[in-house]
Amino acid sequence: MGQRIIRIIKGDITEQEVDAIVNAANNSLLGGGGVDGAIHKAAGPKLLDECRTLNGCATGEAKITHGYNLPAKWVIHTVGPVWHGGNNEEDRMLAKCYSNCLKLAAEEGIKTIAFPAISTGVYHFPIPRAAEIAINEVIDFLQETPVFDRILFVCFNDETFSNFNRLLNEDKK
Ligand code: ADP
Repeated sequence: MGQRIIRIIKGDITEQEVDAIVNAANNSLLGGGGVDGAIHKAAGPKLLDECRTLNGCATGEAKITHGYNLPAKWVIHTVGPVWHGGNNEEDRMLAKCYSNCLKLAAEEGIKTIAFPAISTGVYHFPIPRAAEIAINEVIDFLQETPVFDRILFVCFNDETFSNFNRLLNEDKK
């Protein structure tokens, strides 16, 4: 079931025509580099205005805003863990990011959602391990809560794409 709904693509998350895109933000929610910077640039300054009203976001949690100038109607902001070697709850926190985003999306009636590879940029989470957590968490969530039509993993580079793609294809066997 999950495998038909989940798709791995290579591209830019800001261009995705989905109900919601997920932002890999920082605790302040006041903008940063990487995917966060790209999302704020494409959404326009009203996104930052709305983010200022949210009082930040704890690691592993998620908060929703409008998408403004983005093709996506909503942005779900989540804060991934910074990688500190793997013995500091990084895996559990990363899994929580995915499940809390999906929970919030389900509550809002969102049917299509796109994720970036949370924490694998400046937060330095190893990509193969992050990909495994991401895919397993999404498949688990879908089994319990089958309300989505499409869940995209939007990979910004070849390394991310090949890791996510390999795992999803293995899962099909
Ligand atoms: P984090 O702080 O959670 O590590 P980053 O933004 O540094 O967040 O990186 C998270 C992932 O998002 C990385 O795999 C990075 O290559 C990717 N990324 C950066 N820009 C975009 C974009 N426009 N669309 C999709 N993914 C992106």
